[in-house]
Amino acid sequence: MISIVEERREEQQRSEFEVEEVPLRIWEQVTNQIRQEIVSLQNQLWQSNIDKVFQKGNGVPKIFQKKLRMMKMGKSNRQCSICCNSFLKDETIIQLPCKHIFHKSCLSSWLDHSTKCPNCRSDVLDLLMSQER
Ligand SMILES: [Zn+2]
Ligand SMILES: [Zn+2]
Repeated sequence: MISIVEERREEQQRSEFEVEEVPLRIWEQVTNQIRQEIVSLQNQLWQSNIDKVFQKGNGVPKIFQKKLRMMKMGKSNRQCSICCNSFLKDETIIQLPCKHIFHKSCLSSWLDHSTKCPNCRSDVLDLLMSQER
Protein backbone atom coordinates (compact mmCIF):
# COMPACT_ATOMS: atom_id res chain seq x y z
CA MET A 1 0.00 0.00 0.00
CA ILE A 2 2.65 2.42 1.00
CA SER A 3 4.63 1.88 -2.15
CA ILE A 4 1.59 2.60 -4.36
CA VAL A 5 0.92 5.84 -2.56
CA GLU A 6 4.54 6.93 -2.96
CA GLU A 7 4.47 6.04 -6.62
CA ARG A 8 1.40 8.18 -7.10
CA ARG A 9 3.01 10.99 -5.24
CA GLU A 10 6.04 10.72 -7.48
CA GLU A 11 3.82 10.75 -10.55
CA GLN A 12 2.03 13.80 -9.28
CA GLN A 13 5.25 15.61 -8.66
CA ARG A 14 6.57 14.73 -12.07
CA SER A 15 3.42 15.87 -13.79
CA GLU A 16 3.37 19.07 -11.81
CA PHE A 17 6.88 19.74 -12.91
CA GLU A 18 6.03 19.18 -16.56
CA VAL A 19 2.91 21.26 -16.34
CA GLU A 20 4.92 24.06 -14.91
CA GLU A 21 7.51 24.05 -17.67
CA VAL A 22 5.17 24.34 -20.62
CA PRO A 23 3.01 27.23 -19.44
CA LEU A 24 6.10 29.21 -18.52
CA ARG A 25 6.95 29.46 -22.21
CA ILE A 26 3.33 30.11 -23.18
CA TRP A 27 3.05 32.66 -20.40
CA GLU A 28 6.06 34.50 -21.79
CA GLN A 29 4.47 34.59 -25.24
CA VAL A 30 1.18 35.74 -23.77
CA THR A 31 2.78 38.41 -21.63
CA ASN A 32 4.81 39.64 -24.60
CA GLN A 33 1.67 39.85 -26.67
CA ILE A 34 -0.18 41.65 -23.89
CA ARG A 35 2.77 43.94 -23.35
CA GLN A 36 2.76 44.88 -27.05
CA GLU A 37 -0.96 45.50 -26.95
CA ILE A 38 -0.61 47.69 -23.87
CA VAL A 39 2.18 49.68 -25.53
CA SER A 40 0.12 50.20 -28.66
CA LEU A 41 -2.91 51.25 -26.60
CA GLN A 42 -0.74 53.67 -24.63
CA ASN A 43 0.54 55.14 -27.90
CA GLN A 44 -3.00 55.58 -29.20
CA LEU A 45 -4.06 57.25 -25.97
CA TRP A 46 -0.97 59.47 -25.97
CA GLN A 47 -1.65 60.49 -29.57
CA SER A 48 -5.29 61.32 -28.88
CA ASN A 49 -4.27 63.39 -25.84
CA ILE A 50 -1.73 65.29 -27.93
CA ASP A 51 -4.42 65.95 -30.52
CA LYS A 52 -6.68 67.33 -27.80
CA VAL A 53 -3.98 69.48 -26.19
CA PHE A 54 -2.86 71.02 -29.46
CA GLN A 55 -6.36 71.04 -30.97
CA LYS A 56 -5.11 69.77 -34.28
CA GLY A 57 -6.72 71.43 -37.24
CA ASN A 58 -6.81 74.85 -35.59
CA GLY A 59 -3.38 75.87 -36.83
CA VAL A 60 -2.11 76.88 -40.25
CA PRO A 61 -2.94 74.17 -42.81
CA LYS A 62 0.14 72.51 -44.34
CA ILE A 63 -0.74 73.85 -47.82
CA PHE A 64 -0.33 77.37 -46.44
CA GLN A 65 2.74 76.49 -44.40
CA LYS A 66 4.42 75.47 -47.67
CA LYS A 67 3.97 79.02 -48.98
CA LEU A 68 6.14 80.45 -46.22
CA ARG A 69 9.61 81.69 -47.13
CA MET A 70 12.22 79.07 -46.39
CA MET A 71 15.82 80.19 -46.09
CA LYS A 72 19.24 79.04 -45.00
CA MET A 73 20.67 80.88 -42.01
CA GLY A 74 23.74 82.96 -42.58
CA LYS A 75 25.94 84.39 -39.84
CA SER A 76 23.78 85.75 -37.04
CA ASN A 77 23.59 85.90 -33.30
CA ARG A 78 19.82 85.94 -33.24
CA GLN A 79 17.79 83.33 -31.42
CA CYS A 80 14.78 81.25 -32.32
CA SER A 81 12.17 82.35 -29.78
CA ILE A 82 10.42 78.97 -29.89
CA CYS A 83 13.35 76.81 -28.72
CA CYS A 84 15.49 79.69 -27.37
CA ASN A 85 18.58 78.38 -29.21
CA SER A 86 20.77 80.58 -31.36
CA PHE A 87 20.53 80.04 -35.09
CA LEU A 88 23.49 78.17 -36.50
CA LYS A 89 24.96 78.86 -39.91
CA ASP A 90 23.20 76.91 -42.70
CA GLU A 91 20.25 75.93 -40.53
CA THR A 92 16.92 75.90 -42.37
CA ILE A 93 14.73 78.72 -41.17
CA ILE A 94 11.37 80.13 -42.12
CA GLN A 95 10.49 83.78 -42.35
CA LEU A 96 6.91 84.70 -41.58
CA PRO A 97 5.13 87.49 -43.48
CA CYS A 98 5.76 89.69 -40.39
CA LYS A 99 9.53 89.13 -41.03
CA HIS A 100 10.15 87.14 -37.85
CA ILE A 101 12.32 84.07 -38.35
CA PHE A 102 12.29 80.65 -36.67
CA HIS A 103 13.77 77.22 -37.16
CA LYS A 104 11.76 75.36 -39.79
CA SER A 105 11.09 72.40 -37.46
CA CYS A 106 10.20 74.61 -34.47
CA LEU A 107 7.82 76.73 -36.52
CA SER A 108 6.07 73.88 -38.29
CA SER A 109 5.08 72.22 -35.00
CA TRP A 110 4.03 75.65 -33.65
CA LEU A 111 1.87 76.41 -36.70
CA ASP A 112 0.20 73.01 -36.45
CA HIS A 113 -1.72 74.36 -33.45
CA SER A 114 -1.57 78.12 -33.80
CA THR A 115 -2.01 80.68 -36.57
CA LYS A 116 -0.21 83.44 -34.68
CA CYS A 117 3.47 84.44 -34.88
CA PRO A 118 5.14 83.45 -31.58
CA ASN A 119 6.89 86.85 -31.47
CA CYS A 120 4.36 89.48 -32.48
CA ARG A 121 1.09 87.46 -32.45
CA SER A 122 0.19 88.65 -35.94
CA ASP A 123 -2.04 86.16 -37.72
CA VAL A 124 0.10 84.15 -40.14
CA LEU A 125 -2.90 82.64 -41.92
CA ASP A 126 -4.49 86.08 -42.49
CA LEU A 127 -1.23 87.53 -43.80
CA LEU A 128 -0.69 84.56 -46.13
CA MET A 129 -4.23 84.80 -47.46
CA SER A 130 -3.92 88.54 -48.09
CA GLN A 131 -0.70 87.83 -50.03
CA GLU A 132 -2.71 85.46 -52.21
CA ARG A 133 -5.11 88.18 -53.28
ZN1 LIG B 1 14.03 76.80 -32.78
ZN1 LIG C 1 5.97 88.15 -36.09
